[in-house]
Amino acid sequence: MNIYEIINKAQTKTKLTKNEIFWLVDNFTKDEIPDYQMSAWLASVFINHLSEDETNWLTQALSESGEQLKWSNPTVDKHSTGGVGDKTSLIIAPLIASLGYQVPMMAGRGLGHTGGTIDKLESIEFQTDVDVKNFKKLVENTGVCIMGQSEDFCPADKRLYALRDATHTVANIPLICSSIMSKKIAEGLDGLVLDVKFGTGAFMSKLSDAKSLAQKLIAIGENSQIKTYGVLSSMNQPLGRYIGNKLEILECLEIMKNPKDVFELYEDNIVLSLLLSALMLQSLKPKDNLEKNFQIVFDQLMSGKVFNKFVQMVEAQHGNLQELLEIKSGQTLISPQINAKKITITSETNGYMSYVDIKALGFAAVALGAGRFTKEDIIDFEVGFYCYKKQNDIVRKNEALFDVYYNDESKLNDALEKLKDSFLIDQKSSDENTNLNQIKKPESKNLIEEIISFDGQKYQNLHLKTKFFEI
Ligand code: URA
Repeated sequence: MNIYEIINKAQTKTKLTKNEIFWLVDNFTKDEIPDYQMSAWLASVFINHLSEDETNWLTQALSESGEQLKWSNPTVDKHSTGGVGDKTSLIIAPLIASLGYQVPMMAGRGLGHTGGTIDKLESIEFQTDVDVKNFKKLVENTGVCIMGQSEDFCPADKRLYALRDATHTVANIPLICSSIMSKKIAEGLDGLVLDVKFGTGAFMSKLSDAKSLAQKLIAIGENSQIKTYGVLSSMNQPLGRYIGNKLEILECLEIMKNPKDVFELYEDNIVLSLLLSALMLQSLKPKDNLEKNFQIVFDQLMSGKVFNKFVQMVEAQHGNLQELLEIKSGQTLISPQINAKKITITSETNGYMSYVDIKALGFAAVALGAGRFTKEDIIDFEVGFYCYKKQNDIVRKNEALFDVYYNDESKLNDALEKLKDSFLIDQKSSDENTNLNQIKKPESKNLIEEIISFDGQKYQNLHLKTKFFEI
């Protein structure tokens, strides 16, 4: 067996054997296959794809490249295929742990134009490199531990993930399936919820491709006896308001601390986090009623216990919330210290906010320093955006559209160019007095398109927003 033959097979769409896939993963993990040859293989797979068997073997090989965990109590996790401003894990993990379940969450770094939970947590000095013994101990004691792939857990995915990020070979169904499910299988889960994104800011822009990805992910979960749900959710606008590592922690702290006060501001982030959490409970007890589970997670968020669990989790993993929280007269308050300069971008015209390319918005954040263009790039945790307007919001001339947090002028210019490509103001009117309500408002699209269940159960007409938030 040699790497030339394996690259040649990928280039000529010739199926690899199970042995060849295990050999490839094993030798790459041992640094016996250099990055440039693995990149050539990835590029060929990116174009020619892998068969179902090859995808399953790759998943198994990546998963078995490190430890496989076993638990005596039920464990459940959630994973996203990646988005912009997509920070639900930061709320969901402590929420489910605060209900007494175990969440062994292996998360990733930023990938392409998308952010990663591990980078976000490292912005508060959270220790994400945890060994097996500690990982188990933390999950058993605190109910949750969030870590990245390591030399113990999925080391092959750790290397491949970084290489895919730098070689623009992420958006490929077999590679995404094997990367995500290798980690989830190694976690030894009973239940899993996958947030499968579609839209201009997702790796699968077409809904039909996202659905096909969800079905394949669920099938792999099924083969490993993991009760898996897939939620098809829209990434046609940023989730929530903040984009950028520390800024996203800030948004989640605000939600966990004062959910009622910030509901309107962060509605999409809150509704999606709660639905994914409710489905996590459902995956442990599939006969339950989803609305009942939604009520449970809703009440839990409102109770303030999720915030307390988040603080406990951060302490357990040696993070530092000093720059985002302060204690005044015995009360914990959010008082953000963002160490970056800030400018506000305003609208030149009247109209409606229309996000047209969320990938461009994600790359604008990467350009500021919130993500990596090469494997060696160092992240600037403080930079990013605040989005004043959601899709179809009324915009008036001179109103604020974005705050841009930056540290480096040359990066700022590049980021502003990319930002410009990400949105436009629809139904322009230069007349400040135009009554925008008389202009036909663009149709709004659903945040949640469909829930796909491992057992074929259908969940339709989920009027969660109106039902639970009295709006
Ligand atoms: N998340 C992962 O862990 N891997 C991918 O390929 C995409 C999202």
